[in-house]
Amino acid sequence: MTKTAVCICSGGIDSTVAATIASREGYELHLFHASYGQRAEKKEKEAVGEIAAYLGAKDLKCVEIAFLKELGGSALTDITTEVPVAEEVNLEEKETPSTWVPCRNLILLATASAYAEVISAEALFVGFNAEEARAYPDNEKEFVDRYNAVLEKAVASFSQPPTVKAPLVDLFKPDIIKKGIEVEAPLHLTYSCYSGGEKHCGICESCLRRRWGFREADVDDPTEYIHAKES
Ligand SMILES: [Zn+2]
Repeated sequence: MTKTAVCICSGGIDSTVAATIASREGYELHLFHASYGQRAEKKEKEAVGEIAAYLGAKDLKCVEIAFLKELGGSALTDITTEVPVAEEVNLEEKETPSTWVPCRNLILLATASAYAEVISAEALFVGFNAEEARAYPDNEKEFVDRYNAVLEKAVASFSQPPTVKAPLVDLFKPDIIKKGIEVEAPLHLTYSCYSGGEKHCGICESCLRRRWGFREADVDDPTEYIHAKES
């Protein structure tokens, strides 16, 4: 019998590696992407489309949760707030930065869970990881465990709740990239930049983690950055 997985995919490295792992584990892939008014939406959507095709996904579901932009509170959705760059970014920082989107992962998971229930998916893959969990609590294993417990009571009596799987939950960026190479994830198709430009800026938090990850993993970085230097 076919195993089915919904894979939340932003088009970035983490969620793409998680989706590739689902594929290698034999799941039929249904990629799930959300627009929430983020600056990089156009580029993310392009990337997700290419990743879905590369992985031979059965379906790609793109939904709008644009009310997150309306609610505000994030430098990613509010263009009057600057995205921190270069020296303003500290990758070791444990304090959640201004690029936090309030409750985004909870809302994303809830929305993707609804889709998973509709298509009777057994699993819901996410790219949550230890790197992001340093400053973003909704990337922690505890968040996944608690969410899975809630799901048991969140679906109909005739449905089996999907299990949220976060295969990268213990990994930092260099190991995620190494894992990506191991499972042959299409890292070259991923897009990470917060600013949403045609090329990666190279100096926002997400670009800095991407660069650091490739460098630390000792893997050739296929990305073209606008800023050749990190600061
Ligand atoms: Zn960037």
